Formats: sequence, C-alpha cells, structure tokens
Amino acid sequence: MTLRAPGPGDALLVVDVQNDFVTGSLAVRGAGEVVPALNRCIDAFVRRRLPVVASRDWHPPDHCSFRERGGPWPPHCIAGTEGAQFAPGLVLPVDALVVSKATERDRDAYSVFAGTGLDRELRKRGIDRFFVGGLATDYCVVNTVRDARRLGYAVGVVVDAIRAVNVHPDDGANAEAAMWAAGAIAVAVEAIAGAAGAGKRGAVRAPTRGSPVSD
Ligand SMILES: [Zn+2]
Repeated sequence: MTLRAPGPGDALLVVDVQNDFVTGSLAVRGAGEVVPALNRCIDAFVRRRLPVVASRDWHPPDHCSFRERGGPWPPHCIAGTEGAQFAPGLVLPVDALVVSKATERDRDAYSVFAGTGLDRELRKRGIDRFFVGGLATDYCVVNTVRDARRLGYAVGVVVDAIRAVNVHPDDGANAEAAMWAAGAIAVAVEAIAGAAGAGKRGAVRAPTRGSPVSD
C-alpha cells in the first residue's frame, strides 16, 4: 500500500505534548519517546513549508475533569502553568498554529476539534488531510481522529509517535482499532521524515496496519 507523500493540502497535528502528560501529574508511559519522533515529522513539514498545528489542554484551575470536582483525572495542564507548557524537547516552528482546548470550567473536551474553531482554520488554509501524533492515543488522539473523519478529512496516524494512558490495558489497542475503523491510515515516522529527507515528491510506503484513505 502506498500513501501520497506530504504536500500541499496537508498539515501536521501535534496533540498535547505538554509537560504534565510527559513528565508531570498525568505522565503517559513512554510519552518522552514521541518527542523525537514528532520532531522528525515537524522538520519534514517545515522543510516543505507545510503547516504545523500544536494542540494543548488548557484548563482553568477548577476544571470539571479534575478529581476534586468529581472528574477522572488529577489536576493537569492548568492554563499558564509549567505543567501546561509544551515539552521542552519539542521543536515547534515559530509559526505553528497553537490550539487550546477544554478551556471552560464546566466542559471537558478530548477532541482538538471540540469548540476550538480548528475545522474552520484548516479549511481556510485549504487543508484536507493531516497527519497526527501525540498524546494520548486513547483520549485526545482517537477523539480528534474520529471527529476529523466525520468532518471529511483524510487522516494519517503516525503510529510510532503516539502513546496511550491505558487505564484498562487494551485501551490503546482499542483506540487504534477505532481509528482504522473510522478510515484513518497508519503511517510510520519514516514514511514522512524519510520522504522529505530524500526530497522526493512521489508516493511513500505505508505500514500494513489500517485501511486506505482515498485521496
Ligand atoms: Zn485535560
């Protein structure tokens, strides 16, 4: 199976690579490994002058998802705090489009499309396909991908640049299955970074997981 290499009409979406999810209050196992993988993707997109979008969880201090308010999570990614900053190793371009989500006290949001205007922003820029990586597979990545498919985007999930929380051991695997069922396609970092590195504009090889996206 081959996949059209990143080019005009494509964007890279880096989901929630923030201190609290990498090393902080809600650290996701193996999260540090997504940083160099995503940096390679970012570099490939920047070199091709393609847009990079970075989302962040950006909660008020008394957000409804926090345990003290009956939510499932310890306090995390409180707007403006160190824990909410992007991981220091992540190399975002200066013109990255930063999207803050779940900013309202009484509403949580896992999808980067939920109440952020991202759909409008992508369409304005002529984006109809994006590649996505980040944290966490079983929450914000899967919900973002499902919304994206519903909205008609072609989506490549960079499978070596995502990690799951796995509250239940199979959550990550189930989330991946749900993304392929929704029509997203699995992509390796190498397929993106390798293609850009070689300066080729042709098709690149995709791994065998997932289902094809027609484009
Ligand atoms: Zn959150």
